Amino acid sequence: MQFIETRGNDGKKSSSVAFSEAILSPSASYGGLYVPEALPAMGEEFLIQHLSSDYKTLALDVLQSFNIDIETEILEKALSRYDAFDDPSNPVPLVEIEEDCLVSELYHGPTRAFKDMALQPFGYILSKLAQERDENYLIMAATSGDTGPATLETFKDQPNVKVACLYPDGGTSDVQKLQMVTENADNLKVIGVKGNFDDTQHALKELLASEDFKAELKDRNIKLSAANSVNFGRIIFQIIYHIHSYLEMVRSGKIAMGDKIYLIVPSGNFGNALGGYYAKKAGLPVEKILIASNINNILTDWITMGTYDLTDRELILTESPAMDILKSSNIERVMFDKFGAQRTKELMDALTNEGKYTLTAAELASLQEDFSATFSNDEEGEAVIAKYAKKGYIMDPHTATCMKAYDLLREEKLPSVIYSTAEWTKFSTTVSKALGHGVKDDKEALQWVRTHANVSIPSMIEGLFDKEVKHTIVVEKESIKGEMLNFL
Ligand SMILES: *Cc1c(COP(=O)(O)O)cnc(C)c1O
Repeated sequence: MQFIETRGNDGKKSSSVAFSEAILSPSASYGGLYVPEALPAMGEEFLIQHLSSDYKTLALDVLQSFNIDIETEILEKALSRYDAFDDPSNPVPLVEIEEDCLVSELYHGPTRAFKDMALQPFGYILSKLAQERDENYLIMAATSGDTGPATLETFKDQPNVKVACLYPDGGTSDVQKLQMVTENADNLKVIGVKGNFDDTQHALKELLASEDFKAELKDRNIKLSAANSVNFGRIIFQIIYHIHSYLEMVRSGKIAMGDKIYLIVPSGNFGNALGGYYAKKAGLPVEKILIASNINNILTDWITMGTYDLTDRELILTESPAMDILKSSNIERVMFDKFGAQRTKELMDALTNEGKYTLTAAELASLQEDFSATFSNDEEGEAVIAKYAKKGYIMDPHTATCMKAYDLLREEKLPSVIYSTAEWTKFSTTVSKALGHGVKDDKEALQWVRTHANVSIPSMIEGLFDKEVKHTIVVEKESIKGEMLNFL
């Protein structure tokens, strides 16, 4: 299968590329993204065939149904990364919290957030491709806390790839920071930046656009790639767990094969939700995908009113920081799928030039066939955490935003899957506060929640506090380039 461009072709790049090319060089013409030229059929026949498949078998078949240019052996090795999850035979457990509401726990990997689901196998494949081509790649990430640890972890000691990760000093939780600064490998660099996440992301964009930095990379024979969810190599792995969750519900007798369900997704860059959308289009019986946001509710406006307006917004810091996003990259892929390349380019150009766009009534109606949306503030999120803690289930603040969507948006009383994108241990001060005990640092909050709620803390989180700190650099934005050149 070939991959095509969301904004059409500019005559400089090739208008369609193989999967390997799309993941090594993920930027398409006019700043667009790559998407598959068609979706394979993964409807009832495919589902019935996989009723007794374990996660890796299902995953391999989903990947192969896209007919991508990666050898089976490499795919199998990539998927074996799931063997390091808590339960290798079931890396994504489903837990019932209401009669018709199941939590799909996507956080049982090494960094305790759902980023591992895609980044773990993706990192193996990207490094393998770089080795085969005898090329060297640099991946640069600006992180608000979950992407950084997961990107470092997947590329640690992998040949032909270097990773530099920028985080806002003081802008992440203690656990997230420790996950990054204790990583120990020669191919990894972690830099704290004085400022908030916006400043950090801005500094990264400036660096990547600077001509002399590009020239330095060229001199050193290093190519740039990206590991955020603009890369389709991440999205493809995010289709699989939606299918898995459905099959788990059939296996447990919650639904019969063919019954429709709701998928409820806490969203930021819309990669997780896009995976659900592709699964639905490929034939998974999904009534609708319900999008949960925090008060940075630009996705709610987009889905309920058809407007995407950055002009009157400032990013607000919340207790669900991985969803503190205003420019959501993956909705572009939904628009391409529904409205075509020409219209997508028109809308994305309007966003760049005027800071906003509005969909037509017909376009909005099409969007609403697949999505509904709502948002919660931090107080509502804390109330949800407290409510379910009383019932014996501890969830993190991102997952908590799903419950309002569950309560308000279901037009029919169909069973629902909510996606839990992080373990509570990454956001323990918020969880502790929600349970009535405000503390400043993670170490204390972790112990308090453990005792109070009788839950365990995995060894990779507990061990962080005794690990040696390897990366101590914290710099002003202006010094990032110098640090990078030293590293390279
Ligand atoms: C990345 C992340 C999200 C947002 O996922 P998108 O695919 O960007 O919409 C939500 N919750 C957590 C904990 C995350 O790390």
